[in-house]
Amino acid sequence: MGMFISVTALRETPGQTVPFSFNVDAAELDAAVSVTFVGETEVRGTLQTTGEGYRAEGTIKYSKSFTCDRCLAETTITETIPFSEKFFRRDGSRGDENIRRPAEKGETEMKGEVETDFDGDVVDLLPTVSDTLVAIQPMQNLCRTDCRGLCSKCGHDLNLGDCGCDRRVVDPRLAALADFFKD
Ligand SMILES: [Zn+2]
Ligand SMILES: [Zn+2]
Repeated sequence: MGMFISVTALRETPGQTVPFSFNVDAAELDAAVSVTFVGETEVRGTLQTTGEGYRAEGTIKYSKSFTCDRCLAETTITETIPFSEKFFRRDGSRGDENIRRPAEKGETEMKGEVETDFDGDVVDLLPTVSDTLVAIQPMQNLCRTDCRGLCSKCGHDLNLGDCGCDRRVVDPRLAALADFFKD
């Protein structure tokens, strides 16, 4: 599977753009992350000629399911993120530069923008979409940014209100000192 766009229509018309639109099942996203992509992923944007190659720009609307790292609630979030990627024809004028590129995925990064080589007249956006989704994932997955988590004493979900437990952390050395002065 892939998200294939033909560049044939753009070849003779520099600066022109063609729109693209894909809906793929989340199961097709090749992404090793701690979240599960669910439902349908919508990819919208345009492909344009840059003179040297092509640039795909657009947005990815996707949904993910995960367990909140703080309160352990099963959470599903839908969000829309931007992406941009340059494509260069592998047999193009950029000649010996291609040799230094990683052969495995034909992908490298220059000036912060992702560049990908392609053969023939078709670019595939699916790896771009998958990689963008992996890169955008935060270290912590929270059900909401101000999630209060669980009580460390009783496990109560503090988003539902306070449980009344004393959660102050007592330094064991200070505790020993307090015991000492008790005598
Ligand atoms: Zn939470
Ligand atoms: Zn508690």
